[in-house]
Amino acid sequence: MNHIAFLGVGNMGAGMAGNLARAQRPVTAYDPSLLALAKAEAAGCTAAESAAAAVRDAQTIITMLPAGEHVRAVYETEVIPNARPGALLIDCSTIDVESARYVAGKAAAAGFAFADAPVSGGTMAAEAGTLAFMVGCADADFERVEAALKPMARVVLHAGAAGAGQAAKICNNMVLGVSMLGVCEAFALAETLGLAPERFFEIANQSSGQCWSLTNYCPWPGPVPAAPSNRDYQGGFLTRLMLKDLKLAQEAAAKSGAATPLGAQAEAMYALFDRLGFGAKDFSAVLQLMRGRLDTLG
Ligand code: NAD
Repeated sequence: MNHIAFLGVGNMGAGMAGNLARAQRPVTAYDPSLLALAKAEAAGCTAAESAAAAVRDAQTIITMLPAGEHVRAVYETEVIPNARPGALLIDCSTIDVESARYVAGKAAAAGFAFADAPVSGGTMAAEAGTLAFMVGCADADFERVEAALKPMARVVLHAGAAGAGQAAKICNNMVLGVSMLGVCEAFALAETLGLAPERFFEIANQSSGQCWSLTNYCPWPGPVPAAPSNRDYQGGFLTRLMLKDLKLAQEAAAKSGAATPLGAQAEAMYALFDRLGFGAKDFSAVLQLMRGRLDTLG
């Protein structure tokens, strides 16, 4: 039986570990937060007293941590020194490409297969087991990685070698951040021109302005009932998480020499929205900043 260790069972990790446990795989979880650990236990995992204890008997070790510094520290001090030979290491956190490649190098030097496998989809997809994984790993390891991630996934996509999963994630979310701002700006302009927003939606949705941010996630309340705009922008994809990903994209662009002027603008807009106190709102709420109607946000 494939024994799994899961380190970091916070908002995302608890649901993910629960899906592995429901797929009849023994899961040992560790998190310094006792509250998080209790949630993982309630979802069918066994709690460990330390990361080292959790990974010792595991064939697969999965991490879901806040940022690159946590991932580097956990792999260097806990996972690599204590994992059993042959264990498969998979980091699902969203982190900088450089840290992902650094950890991959350390793992390879110690003889372990490692994959960076960040996810698209929030806490609801984590609970439902419908995340999209973007994987950076050696071709030879992908089949094993895909099998390990399947109980948590809608789809598992191989992006390329180490770090490519993180690269795919930040590039995708840069598209999302920029396109959402474009859609919001267009709604704000439509309103000032006296064009009914609902009519604008119908027209743009069948014209070249059509995109995911408009069609699936419309920031104007009404046209897309499932969108967070219809529930005071609660839940969804939080502004502070979009800002995190846009910052990662800008750091990567600065290091690699890519020109990303619209990504830089998007980061600045979301940093402002966050500073104004709306970091916990869905990122489509930035529409109300563009309309000059922050008073409508509860
Ligand atoms: P979170 O803060 O709820 O969970 C992270 C957990 O890691 C916490 O419970 C924390 O106690 C734990 N942790 C910290 N140091 C640890 C250590 N040394 N060992 C074990 N556990 C440790 O964050 P989250 O929302 O679950 O996000 C996790 C990752 O997933 C982040 O990288 C985030 O960017 C990414 N992500 C989040 C979402 C989302 O909607 N929340 C969506 C996609 C990707």
